[in-house]
Amino acid sequence: MAETTRPKNFIENIIDEDNEKGTYGGEVYTRFPPEPNGFLHIGHAKSVCLNFGLAEEYGGKCNLRFDDTNPTKENEVYVRQIKEDVKWLGFDWNKLCWASDYFDKMYEAAEELIRKGLAYVDDSTPEQIKEDRGTLTEPGKESPYRNRSVDENMKLFHEMKDGAYGDGEKVLRAKIDMSSPNLNMRDPIIYRISHVTHHNTGDKWCIYPMYDFAHPIEDAIEGITHSVCTLEFEDHRPLYNWVLEKVGFWPHPPKQIEFARLNLTNTMTSKRKLKKLVDEGLVDGWDDPRMPTIAGIRRRGFTPAAIRAFCEEIGVSKSNSTVDVGMLEHFVRNDLQNQVVSRNVVENPIKVIITNYPEGQKEMLPVENNRNNPDLGQREIPFSRELWIDGDDFMEVPVKKYFRLFPGNEVRFKGAYFVKCNEVIHNEDGSIKELHCTYDPATKGGNSSDGRKVKGTIHFVEASTAVKIRIRNLEQLMNVDENGDFIFNEASMGDTWGYAEPSIADAQPGERFQFFRHGYYIADSKLTTDSEKVFNRIASLKSSWKPNKK
Ligand code: ATP
Ligand code: MG
Repeated sequence: MAETTRPKNFIENIIDEDNEKGTYGGEVYTRFPPEPNGFLHIGHAKSVCLNFGLAEEYGGKCNLRFDDTNPTKENEVYVRQIKEDVKWLGFDWNKLCWASDYFDKMYEAAEELIRKGLAYVDDSTPEQIKEDRGTLTEPGKESPYRNRSVDENMKLFHEMKDGAYGDGEKVLRAKIDMSSPNLNMRDPIIYRISHVTHHNTGDKWCIYPMYDFAHPIEDAIEGITHSVCTLEFEDHRPLYNWVLEKVGFWPHPPKQIEFARLNLTNTMTSKRKLKKLVDEGLVDGWDDPRMPTIAGIRRRGFTPAAIRAFCEEIGVSKSNSTVDVGMLEHFVRNDLQNQVVSRNVVENPIKVIITNYPEGQKEMLPVENNRNNPDLGQREIPFSRELWIDGDDFMEVPVKKYFRLFPGNEVRFKGAYFVKCNEVIHNEDGSIKELHCTYDPATKGGNSSDGRKVKGTIHFVEASTAVKIRIRNLEQLMNVDENGDFIFNEASMGDTWGYAEPSIADAQPGERFQFFRHGYYIADSKLTTDSEKVFNRIASLKSSWKPNKK
């Protein structure tokens, strides 16, 4: 990342300026602060790449911080998964932190605000507080409790902490400006009462800090220099700065910087909505290979290198936009094309009988593993009298410009011979039973000695050694209706089957291949066993997205 030649983005410009001025003594310290309430998704990957990437680029540090200021029971599964996902993307944190580790300090900071006359305990009901907040065009109304004395506020706040009041009976509010044009500055609530056991602090607290108060303090305690978040927090920045300035504990407070979140076409990037799919059983868990979670796209076969390259390419900006999901697949293809070996697999198979090939004979033919990368070597595939070809590679009545197999036509069977179709044998119901073909022994390896040319090349699988495999030609999980709402794509699993060349029997869970002329596939990490091979399509071979089409 450091040696990139692209122009610097606006965040790097801010950091460079801080480094020149010596704001943070040349230090760059970022954090990635997920709430452990679901699996990370591709949107989070952008934030992970950005925060950890900036630290890498500037020789700085980045923390992984779990935002657990909501006392709901945090889920151990999500915590473990988030750590795993960040590591899988290729990053390591400087410190693993929990927002709840700082509850004492936050409490002290609240006392400090009370002492300075900058916070007060409000007995108004939540409804009243909401009503008095005003609107974008109307100023808010000051609470009748706003001018309590420092001593009274301190006493009440301590009582709140000691459990003297029930949930919602009182709150602590910052005393800022009820007529501020920024609603976030109209005496925001900074502490609320909630008699709930916290996974980390147990029953020590029955009051919990609000996000806008807690977050700047968490950043400041950890010594974060640049606190990067998404655009919806832009209006919260004045409050972020207010808290740090007024509490006054930190001489070099962190700086909040907002960037546009990643939106992908046809892709749901909200933990809450993704959780709904899981809970409703529409998908096979958070790591279903169609899910845009990091765990899902990993199971789908995407590589960390591709995701990082994608995040680097989309860059960061201040304006919201939607990126074509095809661009992500483009980076996956780019990464895989020289790495993975090819295998012959046929779907909707059609039987081919080579009538002039001796019965009982079988030969092994060498074929290259990857056209682009000779280092991946060769393998041998069997050829005999009975073969399978792909349903797409034969047409009884060919359309115009169809160069594959049809009656009377000769094509190259890749790596083997020229083969000509002489006769189509039908079942009683009219469907195709088999094709009777002849091969030309003089074309071994796929070239004729008499200069005869064929226009089509197709692949095949030898019948007696073929391995039946399950294939999932994954499609996008969500479609978008005319109102722009997401609707579940019932056909997204693309479940089918095919025949593969014998070496597929050795495929290990998580192993990737190119299925010749079909696409990139991965042996599903959960479903593939010694006896059954299940493959997920990572990406088709053709791209709908072109690098210059931006
Ligand atoms: P969700 O709505 O999916 O729960 P969130 O923003 O509430 O998302 P957090 O766990 O709070 O999720 O997010 C951790 C970090 O990831 C935050 O800094 C957040 O801004 C960032 N983030 C979340 N979604 C995206 C996105 N689509 N693009 C870029 N960054 C994101
Ligand atoms: Mg959230």
